[in-house]
Parts: sequence; structure tokens; C-alpha cells
Amino acid sequence: MGKEMDWGTLLRESAANIRQLSLYYPVEKDAAKVTRKYPMRINPYYLSLIKEREDAIWKQSVPDLRELEDEEGVPDPLHEENDSPVAGLVHRYPDRVLLLVSNRCAMYCRFCTRKRGVGDPFKRIKKEQVLKGIEYIREHEEIRDVLISGGDPLLLKDEELAFFLERLKEIKHVEVLRIGTRVACSLPQRITDGLVSLLRRYHPLYINTHFNHPGEFTEESRRACSTIADAGIPLGDQTVLLRGINDSVDVMNALIRGLWSMRVTPYYIYQADLTKGTKHFRTDVDLGIEIFKRLKFHPSLPMPHFVIDAPGGGGKIPITPECRFYDVINGDGIEVLNLDYLEYNVLKSRLEDAGDKGAGIIVIELREIEKNKEDKGVYELLKQNHPLYINMHLNHPDELTEDVKRVAPMLCDAGVPLGDRINLIEGVNNDPKVIKELAHELLKLRVKPYYLHADSEEDGLAIVNSLRGFTTGMAVPHLVVGDRIISPNYIVEKTREKIVLRNYQGRTFEYPNTNS
Ligand SMILES: *Cc1c(COP(=O)(O)O)cnc(C)c1O
Ligand code: SF4
Repeated sequence: MGKEMDWGTLLRESAANIRQLSLYYPVEKDAAKVTRKYPMRINPYYLSLIKEREDAIWKQSVPDLRELEDEEGVPDPLHEENDSPVAGLVHRYPDRVLLLVSNRCAMYCRFCTRKRGVGDPFKRIKKEQVLKGIEYIREHEEIRDVLISGGDPLLLKDEELAFFLERLKEIKHVEVLRIGTRVACSLPQRITDGLVSLLRRYHPLYINTHFNHPGEFTEESRRACSTIADAGIPLGDQTVLLRGINDSVDVMNALIRGLWSMRVTPYYIYQADLTKGTKHFRTDVDLGIEIFKRLKFHPSLPMPHFVIDAPGGGGKIPITPECRFYDVINGDGIEVLNLDYLEYNVLKSRLEDAGDKGAGIIVIELREIEKNKEDKGVYELLKQNHPLYINMHLNHPDELTEDVKRVAPMLCDAGVPLGDRINLIEGVNNDPKVIKELAHELLKLRVKPYYLHADSEEDGLAIVNSLRGFTTGMAVPHLVVGDRIISPNYIVEKTREKIVLRNYQGRTFEYPNTNS
């Protein structure tokens, strides 16, 4: 359904009220009360993913009377409005801001954190407001990273988006742009060649999307993600853990594996926020931790951070438990090739071998990225073998030579997600300043630091702690010591009822542990 329609038509054909939805499914008439308070929109594409009533797609999109019964939640649980120096801009962390450019979305998620304003025609975001936000960014030189969000920024027309991107790009101290959007999942038709060729003018530009369930993986969403990845735009994913939707090991494993296969980096898994009207979606924190521990993480592929966004506005606090990589076995469809450098003939034969083994995902662990940089055939080979990842082993900013700075973007432009594994070495890079600089320089090259390998847990934790919060989560690698993946412990206290968390500034926050 809707496959041939363009995105504008699909949006116009959305079910925007219960009467329209009941043309497809029998729905309780009472549900109209919900839409008077919280808007609904289910576009024909997302609607076509519903296989039956109450499935994971239905629950995310169809209004439910329980949204009106939640007496616990609050409209703005993260106190975004307190951290807004100008309307529509949230400046919570030292070096980055959230800039809201649209309050509309391709589909209104029933669990949305910004339920208080998203989709409300009276709360539309005006161009003048966004320009004031951009002015603020221009005046604050400490801001190096702008996260463009909403609602969904990709509901703007191409020209409108380009207008804002152009102004942000002019600001010297802004090094990285990010777009948070759900359309790759909720309206993949929005990812047009035209849009992507516009976006690629603003590198380094990242897109974070939002998949919650394997039922959202379709031919269209795969095409959307490959179009983005092929344009050299690193693609991340933020998933919300949702009761009855994805709160199981099997579903989350399938989700992560599916993301990897679409060249999407699992970035954050969120504990649901305490937003009014969303209580029925919240899982117990302990359940999330149990699930996370049992997920299948691969040592050569990116893994997400499990976080709680601090109630009251302290930022994202990781509750990632200690875990291990799974034992990689042959035949699991992920082939790791260890190569010193990219030499055409060697690469070709290794890729053919991998193909013969039925590899679904290929990862190249690469020692030297700058050799053979001019061989166009290499880039063609890489392009023909997606999903294909390359991991580098850069340990120090001094290793980012002119050659590396030229080759990394070329690999990226061939659609290859680039990761780095850092070895912490005494006397070389065992210094928070060095690792921070390395991580930032890598992000500018569109390389994501995946893992920090350390011999000493203490040294590794000191580094990770110095990054967390002070810089983007994208710059924070997971610490690996031996065969353990370790996260700093930000949990101060945990009882059955509540969990007390400490943020990067040392402030503490409470979140209910069980949802009853
Ligand atoms: C999530 C968020 C960011 C970005 O955080 P990262 O860790 O950089 O992804 C920035 N500002 C606000 C207010 C946020 O909620
Ligand atoms: S796409 Fe994001 S902002 Fe829009 S309704 Fe869903 S969760 Fe909220």
C-alpha cells in the first residue's frame, strides 16, 4: 500500500482521527476523547505495517484510553523548558544544543516524550523562532554540535531545511550537525534522492533515526537507510524500550541485528520517560537491565548505550550493565576480515570467500587505512559488498595524518560505516585530553569510536568518565577490559521502588524502578 505515492500525498492521506481509522479497523469510539488531547496521525505506509490489532505497530500508533488515565506522569519530564534560553532551543550540555525546527511528525507515537506539543497546530514552530535559536548558537562559541530535532525535521520541505542548514553551516565553531528523525522508519518515502543530495552538502552530518520493532523493517525502510548510508551519512538509531512492544530479548536481538544489516548504528536504548499519558508503556528498569545483559553484541560491530534521561533535566545517564560479547561462531552470517590495508586483489578474493560463506554482514578490521588510497577499484568493491563495515585502529590524534583525513571521508562516501577501536596505552594516550581530542577529530571525519580497550579497569573508567556528558554520547566508546564490557556505575542506590542516579555533574536524580 502506498508504495508508489510520494511522501506529501501519503501524509495527506493519513488517518488523523478515529473515524478515518475505523475505515480500516474497528476502533473504540471513545478513543476520540484521546485525540482531542493528543493528536493522532497514522500515514498509509505506517498503517500498512499493522498486521493485527494490538500488535507492536498498532500499539505505537493507535490512541489508547489509558493515555488519559495516567495521573503520575508530567507534561515535560526532562524540564526541557527550563533549559531553554530561547524558545525551541535546549542548551543542557556544555558543548551541544538541541534545536527544534518542526513540531510535526509523519506519525504520532503514542509514547512520545514531547507529547505536550508535538502535532499541536497551535504550537507550530515558526521560522523566526528557529532563526533566534541559530542566533543563540552563533553567539555561543562553546557549541560545537547541533542536534536538529522536533517533532521531525524531515517534515520540512527540502528548501526550508536547506535554509536552516545553510545558516548553521556558516557558524565557524559548529563542527558537527545531526538530524534526529523517525521518517526512515515511519515514512521512508520521505528519503528521496533529492533530499539526500542536499544533506550531503553539509558533512559532517549525522542522522539518528528511531526503530522500535523488527516489524518496521521493510523493503522501503531498507531502501531509505541505504540511500542515506550510500550518501556517506552515518546513520544511528535511538530505540525506546516499550512494554508489550519490544521488552524481550528476542525482539531486541532481532532489532539490533536488523539495524546492523541496514548499516544503522544502534546508538541509544532509552528507558521510557515519565511523560504524562505514557505510563502504560513503561517497563521496569530491572527488566531493561536484564534484557540488555542478554543481548548479542558482536566485538566488531557497534553496540548501544542504555540510558535514562534524568527526570528534571540532568541529561542522559547510562545504566548499561556489565556485559560480554557473544561467542562468535562460524555461520552466524557476520564475517570479520583482518586486513593490513586495502589491496584490490586481496580484498576481492577475501570478499568472494566471505560471499561463498553466505556472509550477511562483512566487517573489515583494518590496520592501515591510508595505503592504496587512490585505487578507485577498491571503493567500487566496497560499494558492491554492502552491508560492509570498516574498523580502524587509531589511538592518537597524531595518527590522523593528512592521508587519513582524506581517505576516511572517501570510505564514508562509499557508504561504509566507519568505527574506531582505541587501545589505551600507558605513556601514549592514557590521558583524558588526548582521548577526547581523538574522539572529536574522529567524529569530524564521520568515524565513530566504538570501543576503548584497556588493561586496567580503573584507567579505562577514568577516561570514559571524563567524556560522558561533557561531550556527545557519540564520542564515548564502550570500555572493554579482557572479555568484559564495562560501563561506569552511575547508580547510587536501587530499591524495588526507586533508582537513584548520578549524572556527569554529580547531581542525583530519582526514577521509579517498578511501574505499578
Ligand atoms: C539527547 C540530547 C542531546 C544529545 O545528546 P548526545 O549524547 O550528544 O546524543 C543534546 N541535548 C539534549 C537536551 C538532549 O536531550
Ligand atoms: S517521531 Fe519522535 S517526536 Fe514524533 S511523535 Fe514519534 S517520538 Fe515523538
